[in-house]
Amino acid sequence: MKFYCETCGNEVSLEEGTLSWVDDGNSLDCFRITHKNDQNHNCDPRYVAYIHLWIVTGLSGFVKFTELLADHWEKGYTLKDVKGLKRAINQIGTYIWEKSKGKVPSRGETG
Ligand SMILES: [Zn+2]
Repeated sequence: MKFYCETCGNEVSLEEGTLSWVDDGNSLDCFRITHKNDQNHNCDPRYVAYIHLWIVTGLSGFVKFTELLADHWEKGYTLKDVKGLKRAINQIGTYIWEKSKGKVPSRGETG
C-alpha cells in the first residue's frame, strides 16, 4: 500500500512523510498524514507536533506513538479528532501488516 498526502493528494514516501497533529496543551487535534511541508495546520507552529512516517511505520515507532497518546490521556488531554486519529492508525496498521506479510518492498526500494 501507498500513503497519500492529505493536503496535496500526491503519493508521499516514508522518507518525505509525517504524521502530524495539533497539541495546544489541552487537546490533540487534526491528525494528518502529509508531506512534511504540507502539514498545513492553521495554528501557531509551536503547537504542531509530528512524527516521521518512516519511524511510525516501524513496529517500535508505532508502539512509541501509542505510548505517547496514553501519556497525553493520563495528563487529561481531550481527543478532538477521533476520526483523523483512527484513519491514520488504520493506514499505518495496514502498512505494518502488509509489510509483515512481505507484500511491501523494504525502505528505499520503489514500488
Ligand atoms: Zn503533499
